[in-house]
Amino acid sequence: MAAKLLDDSDVRRLLDGMADVVSPLPAGSWDSLGGERRLKALYGVASLDAFGDFSRAELAAFDALLDYLESTQKGRMPRLRPPGQRARGSVMLIDAATRRSLELARTLAGESKGSLIATIDCTITGAGARAQAARLAAPLTDLALIEQRLDAVDHCVKVSDLRADLRTDLRAAPDLERALSRLMLDRGTPRDLAAVRDALRVAAELCDRLNRGSAADGGLDDHGLPVLLDRAQKALTGHAALEDLLGRALVADPPALARDGGFITKGYDAALDEVRTLRDESRRLIAGLEADYRRDTGLNALKIKHNNVLGYHIDVPAKAADLLMQPPHAQRFIHRQTLANAVRFSTTELAGLAAEINQAGDRALAMEQQMFDELVARIADHWHELMACAQALAEIDVSAALAERAVIDRWARPKISEDRAFDIRGGRHPVVEAALRKEDGGPFIANDCDLGPDQRLWLVTGPNMAGKSTFLRQNALIAILAQAGSFVPAEAAHIGIVDRLFSRVGASDDLAQGRSTFMVEMVETAAILNQATDRSLVILDEIGRGTATFDGLSIAWAAVEHLHDVNRSRALFATHYHEMSALKVRLSSLALRSMRVKEWRGDVVFLHEVTMGAADRSYGIQVASLAGLPKAVINRARQVLDDLEASGEGARTRGALGDLPLFERSAASPATPAPKDEAASAVLDAVRTSNPDELTPKQAHDLVYHLKSLSQGPY
Ligand code: ATP
Repeated sequence: MAAKLLDDSDVRRLLDGMADVVSPLPAGSWDSLGGERRLKALYGVASLDAFGDFSRAELAAFDALLDYLESTQKGRMPRLRPPGQRARGSVMLIDAATRRSLELARTLAGESKGSLIATIDCTITGAGARAQAARLAAPLTDLALIEQRLDAVDHCVKVSDLRADLRTDLRAAPDLERALSRLMLDRGTPRDLAAVRDALRVAAELCDRLNRGSAADGGLDDHGLPVLLDRAQKALTGHAALEDLLGRALVADPPALARDGGFITKGYDAALDEVRTLRDESRRLIAGLEADYRRDTGLNALKIKHNNVLGYHIDVPAKAADLLMQPPHAQRFIHRQTLANAVRFSTTELAGLAAEINQAGDRALAMEQQMFDELVARIADHWHELMACAQALAEIDVSAALAERAVIDRWARPKISEDRAFDIRGGRHPVVEAALRKEDGGPFIANDCDLGPDQRLWLVTGPNMAGKSTFLRQNALIAILAQAGSFVPAEAAHIGIVDRLFSRVGASDDLAQGRSTFMVEMVETAAILNQATDRSLVILDEIGRGTATFDGLSIAWAAVEHLHDVNRSRALFATHYHEMSALKVRLSSLALRSMRVKEWRGDVVFLHEVTMGAADRSYGIQVASLAGLPKAVINRARQVLDDLEASGEGARTRGALGDLPLFERSAASPATPAPKDEAASAVLDAVRTSNPDELTPKQAHDLVYHLKSLSQGPY
């Protein structure tokens, strides 16, 4: 399978672009029989039936995966939960381009700050943050499961004391999941044992809280807890014996390494206590010996020290050393080492005591190491329950965090249904709203979006900066949040389950893969038009902008027709081509919307409000003026625009090309024939002199821009 895939030039090119993260494996690593054998051996089962009915491709993938784990973990397999199958269509499909353009986990600049996930994250624990990110990365399509999540969030919204208490308790919860995986991979430390102990303590407290919280609330089910929280609460219980064992065994704040010892508490094991007393007693005896030697020699500067080379030894200043090398002391003190300022000695008594200390110390360390292994083994025995407990902690964190976000930002519980509804009242973009709030940039203007059956495709026009992209994206994000089981930034929302979400917003070069802006745009548009269904939600922003105006308009035009007639998806289509409003006559489910702007003393003021009807003009020159283009350029642009509009006006009404007034205006315009011819021959010359086989992607990209500038002629 792999070999066949690698023969495909598209796949090859894609993989080449990811060379630093992808290493192709030989076909031999993808053996379905091998995968089946490995899986059975891993779980000690004779048949895989209990796990699911796996296809050959799935088994082959197991083979490669387990092979990878075996080789990278040096033969030690991490603990793995049994494999499960996720049914096709059980999550909302969101392709990579859509994820990127909606800035779910990363902004277009590649940073996590400013992404949806980072902006709305109120989780307390690392595991909670990971679980929330996983939810948002894979919104559900199963109505019942979505409702279960929403019920849990709803409960935490309504019972606000419970929410606050849960969140306070969670602050003391270590990362149980990470501690468990380190312990199971033999990379654990005494601190991981303490993490398990502390997490179990928090789990017990949360369990009590949920019990009490449910008693206070007037029942959503038998226990007053919604299903998810009830299930989580059950997973938090039943660990008292292990918690007690770890509590008795470990000191409050254990050291980082097991080999240093000192993590088993006094009183846990009598034998260990005895060895430790012996070790500590010998240390006390050494202090006594030092006092004796000082008294006997009269040398107050004499010290008993320890280092790794000599072990315990007697250290005296060089000028006093002679005394110890002469009778009567010479018989007792054995010279070991002379340094510039000090001379070192040993004695048989000291050597004997040192041996006892070492033996006792080594024994204590060995005993602690054995106890460490025993505690890890006890944890391994409860691995499944502990993993379930870790998940429950994360689940509670996510529900409480989403509730917190809902309360802080006034989010509403969405209504989810199986139909094709999409009715958002007072929707907001959570990231733009947060940014405006932070910068004191004025209020975010909420907007409605109803893509009901008779207006399932909205054509949104309006000038640059008017808020089209924000409006488009906010509706996609609301759909994601809702199906991930979160409340949504809106006054109300009714969403018929979306099977796939497509978003094509803004243009970006992908020169690493040899594709220009326009090519990327077309590849992504093709993916949408080929795959979107009548249950999908499609967001298209300014399709066709990356090419010549006529081509761009034609492509946008045809794409809208296709979306409307063939895909029949719920869709938002933003465009600068006002000419497309004419499509309203032909497409019964198309609705025209525009972004409201106000003109004030020749400037344009953006109201960020979506309103009925199409925009009457682009205000491009006003926006350019706001951006600081030189006055002379703005004035000249106004003149050119006036000329163009005057020349187009008469032809527009003649309607030679019917639906496409822009074509009509340009085709019939007497004002521009000469530049057009000149431009055409300049373009032809440039094409003739170029050699496609010798162009790098960057040069090809530059050539396209060059051709475009030539095509626009000298005016
Ligand atoms: P372009 O066509 O140039 O891409 P646009 O019409 O898509 O522009 P946006 O990028 O969506 O405009 O918005 C421009 C800016 O306007 C945003 O960064 C934001 O600061 C502000 N804005 C957008 N929508 C709103 C809103 N609903 N309320 C308040 N401010 C908004």
